[in-house]
Amino acid sequence: MTSPELKLKQLPSWQQELGQLMTDPAELVHHLKLGRQWLAPAIAAAKLFPLRATRSYVQRIAPGRPDDPLLRQILPLQAELKTDKGYSADPLGEQRANPVPGLIHKYHGRVLLVAAPQCAINCRYCFRRHFDYKSNTPSRQQWQQAIDYIRQHPSIDEVILSGGDPLVLADKPLAWLVEQLASIQHVQRLRIHSRLPIVLPQRLTAQLLSLLQHNRMHCVVVVHCNHPKEINDEVASALLSLKHHGLTTLNQSVLLKGVNDCSSTLVDLSKRLFELGVLPYYLHALDKIVGAAHFEVAEPEIKNLYRSLLRELPGYLVPKLVREVQGAQSKVAISCD
Ligand code: SF4
Repeated sequence: MTSPELKLKQLPSWQQELGQLMTDPAELVHHLKLGRQWLAPAIAAAKLFPLRATRSYVQRIAPGRPDDPLLRQILPLQAELKTDKGYSADPLGEQRANPVPGLIHKYHGRVLLVAAPQCAINCRYCFRRHFDYKSNTPSRQQWQQAIDYIRQHPSIDEVILSGGDPLVLADKPLAWLVEQLASIQHVQRLRIHSRLPIVLPQRLTAQLLSLLQHNRMHCVVVVHCNHPKEINDEVASALLSLKHHGLTTLNQSVLLKGVNDCSSTLVDLSKRLFELGVLPYYLHALDKIVGAAHFEVAEPEIKNLYRSLLRELPGYLVPKLVREVQGAQSKVAISCD
């Protein structure tokens, strides 16, 4: 078991890190010694979906290794310029489930609130890489419409803060939002979907942890980690801090070709997360978003991988294997029988 008191080096504040993201493909290619052939495609693909990555994340990538599993998640590639059959700009049909700006209501009992229009990292496979953030840019006025909608629908007992990434919000607007939601008696659970504990672990400040711990709702944090190499000492410490504040913490991963399509990687990931107080929750098949087809793992391979996880891990460490299907009332389990 890892000690919660890991000795951490002095890090920049999360706001400083967020202000110094790596956004220039030339800097990434040069910094990681990738060779000039990677530059022109990276520039072209970044025009469609910009490069964004925290410096802390980039430091975890091995230089001179274009196949590094962390690099593959952030490096814009020529393959993103293709439109493959079966891939679309809105594979989950979110635009049709958008009753008021900034709110997605697809499933019974829960809604998703777009709390922030950007992330600290742009994952190249992101299912919202073409999301209309311009019409869904959060502001207090827009949140008010969403809050009114939630207040008028007593069947909603869970609100998911998503984005973008809700934790790129400063504490003050986030605290306002949490307070507003806590004032709606039928909202029992607040779920925070965030990749920041993995890519910008300094974000889990004492103030934020206290906000999540001390409110009327039961708070669940769902992090997004795809590979054990993403978990350095700072991330480990951040995840343990969630546990020590009594926050239920789950992980969702996306199964990605060339990143984590290997049973030993997924087994190691589940075990490491559990050491840090995080339960594996979902393993998602790729959403068919234009520009991400090169990450797709073929269905028979998905099933073989999953059978290996079932053999090698105790049941509570096996994430549910699911895919999103447009129009379905929940995520759909992929059967491996
Ligand atoms: S952190 Fe999540 S929402 Fe943001 S780019 Fe990555 S997958 Fe998309």
